[in-house]
Amino acid sequence: MIYFDNAATTLPYKEVVDTYKKTCIESFYNPSATYHPAFNLFKDLSAARKTIIRFLGGDIDNDNIIFTSGATESDNLAIFGSCFNKNKKYLFSVGEHPAVFNSAMELKNRGYNVQLINLQKNGQIDYADLESKCDENVCFVSIMSVNNETGAINDLEKIRNIIDKKSPNSVFHVDAVQGFGKIDLNVKKCKINLLSMSGHKIHGLKGVGALYISKGTRLKNINYGGGQEFNLRSGTINYPGIISFLKATQISFENMQENYTKVLGLKEYLLEQLNNLNFKNLHIVSDKTYSPYIVSLFFEGNRGETIMRYLDSKNILVGTGSACSSSKVGNRVLENMKYTQKQILGAIRISFCASNAKSEIDNLISELKYYLANINA
Ligand code: PLP
Repeated sequence: MIYFDNAATTLPYKEVVDTYKKTCIESFYNPSATYHPAFNLFKDLSAARKTIIRFLGGDIDNDNIIFTSGATESDNLAIFGSCFNKNKKYLFSVGEHPAVFNSAMELKNRGYNVQLINLQKNGQIDYADLESKCDENVCFVSIMSVNNETGAINDLEKIRNIIDKKSPNSVFHVDAVQGFGKIDLNVKKCKINLLSMSGHKIHGLKGVGALYISKGTRLKNINYGGGQEFNLRSGTINYPGIISFLKATQISFENMQENYTKVLGLKEYLLEQLNNLNFKNLHIVSDKTYSPYIVSLFFEGNRGETIMRYLDSKNILVGTGSACSSSKVGNRVLENMKYTQKQILGAIRISFCASNAKSEIDNLISELKYYLANINA
C-alpha cells in the first residue's frame, strides 16, 4: 500500500506504540492519586509539559500545557474558553479547519461578534483584510499555521505585528496541527497565547493532543468534573496517551530538519514528474511557498473523487479536500482562494511523511498517466 494521506493521519512510530504498551501496563495508576507510584506519574506529566514548551520556544517556568483528546478539543477549549464578552470582536480566517471554523460559527450563533478574514490566491490569509478588521475592540484572533488542505503557511510573525499594532490586548490562537514538529514554530517570537497540537499527525496516537497556554493568558474551563489539568480539562488523565504523544513529539522535533529536507525532495520530485505529464488541465495549487508536506493540485474537467477511487483500486491512497471533515468535503478554502467549482471538483491532495519514497511517486505518476490517457479519455 502506498500512503500519501499523511495530513489526514500518520502511521505511529514503533517507539510510540512500544511506549504506549509499556505505560498501559506498568504505569496504569491514576496520576491524580496521592500514593507514590501515582505521584511519580504526575511528575512525569510536569516534565512532559516542560519538554513540549521548550520545543515550542516557550517559557518552561511560566507557560503551560493542557493535555486533551486531540486538536479538535484543544481548538474548542481555546475558543470557547476565551469568550468572555459579547461586545468584543473575535476574528477567524476562512481557511481554518472545521475544528476552529465550526466553533467560530457556533460562537456566532451564541451571539458573539465573529468576523472572518479572507484568504489570498496564494492560500495565506489576506494580511490587509486582517489589518482592516483589527481594532481596539478585537479580543481574540485565531489563525492556523499551515492549512491542512493546501499546505499554505501563514506568516505568524507578520500576523502578530498587525495584531499588536491595532488590537494589542488580543489573545492570539494558532491551530498548529499541520506545522507542529514539521516546520519552525516559536511561540515567543510570534507572541502566541494559545497553540493547538495533535498526536496522530506526527506519528503519535489518535485521541491525544495538547493546548499550549502562555503565561497570563486568561482561559476558562469548558467542561466540568474533577478539576484535572489545572481545572481546565476535567477527566482522568490519559497518562499512556500523553507519554506516547511526548515520544512522538521528541522524535519529530529531533528529526525535524532532516525530515523537512527529505519531504522537500519528494515534493520537488513530484512536481517535476507531474510537469512531465504535459497534462494541460493540471494545476498545482501548492507551489514552492507552501509546506512541502501537503500538495494540493487539480485536474480541471476531471473529478478528484474519481481519480482518488481509481488510485485506491491500485493501492495508492491520496486525499480529496479535507479527510478529517468526514461528512462533508469542504471546498470553502479553495473557493475563498477564488478557484472555480469546476477546478475544485478536480482537486486531490497528496500529503507526505519522511518515510515516503520517490519510487512510490513513480507508481503514482504512472497510474495517473494511465488514468488520464485511458480511463478518462
Ligand atoms: N486542525 C487541523 C489543521 C487539522 O488538520 C486537524 C485534523 O486534520 C484538526 C485540527 C483536528 O485534529 P484532531 O484529529 O486531533 O482532532
